Amino acid sequence: MTFSTNIPIYEHDLRDIFRMFAPVFCLPLDIRLNYYDGGGCEVKIGEKTYKYVLFTGGVLKKELKKRLYLSLSDFLGATLPWGSLTGIRPTKIAYKYLYDGGRTENIAKMLQDEYYVSPKKAQLIAKIVKNQTEFLQNIFPNERARTPGVFDGLSGYVNLYVHIPFCPARCSYCSFVSIPREKNETLLKEYIALLCRDIVQTLDLIKRQNKKILSAYVGGGTPTVLNCEEMDALLSAVGSIDEVGEGKEYTVEAGRPDTITAEKLEVLKKHGVTRVCVNPQTFNDKTLAAIERSHDAASVVKAFNLCRDYGFDVNMDLIAGLPGEGVKDFENSLNFAVALKPENLTVHTLSMKKGSKFHGAGIENEKNLLKANVDAQDMVDLAYNTLKNVSYVPYYLYRQKETAQNLENTGYSLAGKFSINNITVMEETVFVYACGAGAISKNVRGGVITRLAELRDVGLYIKEFDKRLAKKLDFLGGGG
Ligand code: SF4
Repeated sequence: MTFSTNIPIYEHDLRDIFRMFAPVFCLPLDIRLNYYDGGGCEVKIGEKTYKYVLFTGGVLKKELKKRLYLSLSDFLGATLPWGSLTGIRPTKIAYKYLYDGGRTENIAKMLQDEYYVSPKKAQLIAKIVKNQTEFLQNIFPNERARTPGVFDGLSGYVNLYVHIPFCPARCSYCSFVSIPREKNETLLKEYIALLCRDIVQTLDLIKRQNKKILSAYVGGGTPTVLNCEEMDALLSAVGSIDEVGEGKEYTVEAGRPDTITAEKLEVLKKHGVTRVCVNPQTFNDKTLAAIERSHDAASVVKAFNLCRDYGFDVNMDLIAGLPGEGVKDFENSLNFAVALKPENLTVHTLSMKKGSKFHGAGIENEKNLLKANVDAQDMVDLAYNTLKNVSYVPYYLYRQKETAQNLENTGYSLAGKFSINNITVMEETVFVYACGAGAISKNVRGGVITRLAELRDVGLYIKEFDKRLAKKLDFLGGGG
């Protein structure tokens, strides 16, 4: 199957629509979208042609995507939960709509009418926008949106992100920047030493700029792969919660429960960490072995209880659509997680992004994954309904590429326990000052977002350290 168009500037975006249907296409089809200057377009799928008149005044890219979606949807007799909506943050469309004068109670209808989003997903977005707005207005009652998004008034704040690109071993679905610690001991030691310098200089810039830190997040990889001494050095560089964390939120991703010990949690506590992520992904031991995570379900429970002993808020991640899992398996994991009552529970959909072992495994694999993703849709629905019944509410959502049906990742939370970092990072409404290999700094000015990604390769991060650090400080407005 091929896709082509006579309007190359939108080819990338149009391809996204084409890709969303990809697992359905196991047919040798040529698809072409032609745009005509007079205000029309046609979509040819094999022998069939769909012709459209486009409304003048509409945004052309959006209008073309809609027509391609409608044609494919008709030809295949299939609709998609997110309709013609591509891009990772559907909430941004809702915020833009509100900013332009739309009403909160009409968000769901707008998403259905304008993008063919299913009623269920449209209502989910409306709920999340409402939940985020109430939460943030409660914390910052005097702020207002100057550009689309609830948090744009907070120009004096930044989120600090620190990346540890090491793990005990690589999980088979992983597409993150991460290498196994075991084979890279020397590299790790050099990395931590430079990372501490990176953090100290970044914090110095924040001080000079008179900005406040809203939240701090040490992510990975698996930060708790560090030993107590390394962790102590790293968190000393970050500082304590009195210095960081205007939003009083300081997270360390423990991720893999097999790396969590009482001694490490003691170090985290000493430095003012408030929130820890303990990620089971599934409570099914067979699946855990299949996806090459070196822990079992019992060790998740043990690690969770240890975190509770130290009084941390806990986030847990689950993945819907893991290989070999059906709805029953997912339900079992969900019930396990709910019984533990973490403050935050994030339900991801399996992604086959570049960098994971699943990526590019071929059409045969895609056919099999189609079935898995039909189940994933049921899993995602089950999560919503189950969590609603036990007082969790959805509070942030994003989408990733390479998930068939383009299913979403949704963060749920108990009341009052929303992660301010997750909201502001996902909505891109606060600067991100990021430290470490592969970490992405974000400059948010007047609603325009620019990004600077650090080198993903740890060796290169070390080699190019001084040059790259100067570039980052300059990017963040420090003048080098
Ligand atoms: S723990 Fe996370 S970052 Fe590390 S290999 Fe597994 S999925 Fe990747």
